[in-house]
Amino acid sequence: MKFKKEDGKLYLVDTTLRDGEQTAGVVFANSEKIRIAKMLDEIGVHQLEVGIPTMGGDEKETIAKIAKLGLNASIMAWNRAVVNDVKESLECGVDAVAISISTSDIHIEHKLRTSRQWVLDHMTSAVEFAKKDGVYVSVNAEDASRTDMDFLIEFTRCAKQAGADRLRFCDTVGILDPFKTYDIIKKIKEAIDIDIEMHTHNDFGMATANALAGFKAGANFIGVTVNGLGERAGNAALEEVVMALKHVYKYDINIDTKRFREISEYVSTASGRQLPSWKAIVGTNVFAHESGIHVDGALKDPHTYEIFDPDEVGLERQIVIGKHSGTAALINKFKEYGRVLPEEEAKELLPYVRSLSIQLKRPLFDKELIYLYEEHISKIKAI
Ligand SMILES: [Zn+2]
Repeated sequence: MKFKKEDGKLYLVDTTLRDGEQTAGVVFANSEKIRIAKMLDEIGVHQLEVGIPTMGGDEKETIAKIAKLGLNASIMAWNRAVVNDVKESLECGVDAVAISISTSDIHIEHKLRTSRQWVLDHMTSAVEFAKKDGVYVSVNAEDASRTDMDFLIEFTRCAKQAGADRLRFCDTVGILDPFKTYDIIKKIKEAIDIDIEMHTHNDFGMATANALAGFKAGANFIGVTVNGLGERAGNAALEEVVMALKHVYKYDINIDTKRFREISEYVSTASGRQLPSWKAIVGTNVFAHESGIHVDGALKDPHTYEIFDPDEVGLERQIVIGKHSGTAALINKFKEYGRVLPEEEAKELLPYVRSLSIQLKRPLFDKELIYLYEEHISKIKAI
């Protein structure tokens, strides 16, 4: 659907299918790309960057297919600042294009081997060509974070004059921290009235924090990928950005977060990248409690150790029985099976639980707990 912008709103731009797939070794099947696009659309992501038409073949065909699905989300294709790239994108029927070119001297001199003026000229002609067709245009300043500030502002001004709808600020190598990010975005916003998208990479583990710092400084678009999938250490993660906005900043952007775990699992399988159990927001461990004090607190009131409810992201709370368990966890586990475990028996059982868990170097399965109970505490069949 054609991208409609309302003032004062924050937009999510998901690039799992472009930057995510650009990750070394990741290839999505066409059917997977379509499924991912549909899922992201269903949960309410505003814009999807779905690929690079100039690669041709299957890539181009799939982009055209996604553009024809009639999704609510705006469909964007990625381009170099080359008129022919933009032509290929327009042929796919997308309603938005990203036009990307490096702006840092290190990239201009060592990668493009050209001049700043050449960069401005090529960006301008590609943007003007796209705007003639009426599509939405994001101008991507690649390696913006290492770009001379005066030139970045000049570049942004030229982009706006050429008709660009927004600037994508790319921390291509993930070199920023949230404080620097905030200052830079503030400066650009003060110099030029233009929409800004944060596109951050996770090389120092700060992609999500930097994206949010940009938002605080006035950026109104945030680029994300599912699970933070992306080149090298990845990008800002969709699920982290949305949940941090909601619970850290109390800013709900109306994404259906209940499907986060499902989507994360799907993308994890499709990309062949395992989802670690400790992954922020969607990892299975996020709502697993083992230590005696935490379990006792979480059972009395989950908010003592959980910021939000597990079902908000499609997970379940797990009370893990192991080395760090206390009596409350054992009593609760028996309760799950409809049995009352008296406090005295729980205390007696605890040392056996701990020693078996240390011996096995893992938490215990429910069955193992029951065996311990039957062996050492009650000779009667427990459950
Ligand atoms: Zn990137």
